[in-house]
Amino acid sequence: MPVLLLTNDDGVHASGLQALAEALAELGEAHVLAPEREQSACGHALTLHRPLRVARLGERRFAVNGTPSDCVNLGVLGFLPERPVLVVAGVNHGSNLGDDVTYSGTVSAAMEGTLLGVPSIAVSLAEGGDFAGAARVARQVAARVLVEGLPRKTLLNVNVPAGTPRGIRVTRLGHRVYSEKIVEQSDPRGRTHYWIGAGEATWEDLEGTDMGALHEGYVSVTPLHLDLTDHRALARLADWPARLVPRPRGPARARPPRE
Ligand code: MN
Repeated sequence: MPVLLLTNDDGVHASGLQALAEALAELGEAHVLAPEREQSACGHALTLHRPLRVARLGERRFAVNGTPSDCVNLGVLGFLPERPVLVVAGVNHGSNLGDDVTYSGTVSAAMEGTLLGVPSIAVSLAEGGDFAGAARVARQVAARVLVEGLPRKTLLNVNVPAGTPRGIRVTRLGHRVYSEKIVEQSDPRGRTHYWIGAGEATWEDLEGTDMGALHEGYVSVTPLHLDLTDHRALARLADWPARLVPRPRGPARARPPRE
């Protein structure tokens, strides 16, 4: 049986991860290695300045005092009996769509797997959805990936709608309209504090996007590529080095005397 690595950012006790482990047990030897507590919106953080400890909770179930990316690092680089053939992160409680994927611990776990050369999938479920159903979708996608593999540096970001899915759509990331403002308030002692990310999200044109698919009741599968280089901008910036090189310093010029 191939070794699979399962993780999440909602913590090792989350029901989405439990459902995922049950669904993927048919595909391989599913090992759960997940943060001991919730790490949502932790992004791609790694723990480099303190030791990581792993607590065994079951035969193939472990809690780590770190982030989702830490868990993937451990799992891929030697903690498991074999190198996993697939990393699956989720099922996250709440969707991970569009520009927001950069904050997501779930998507970052799949990024980490991809960077380490293991095909990786992130799976998230819209608020109010059914984890068992989403885990079945995850199994279908995972089975396909096990057969076909994924292009180099590419992961799949899967989002499942709350109701029974009408089908699957392959999508691009949607883009947020950043019209929110910060919320400034005073506490009872008269000190000022701030809230960010507190407004309603609005999105640009939904056609073809992950957000659009979910909105219409479809499962969204978005391939994400981890070469963040903007290859078109490379050409546009080609003459920058010549313009940015600091002029060699000559002897200090005497300032003209003030009048
Ligand atoms: Mn989460």
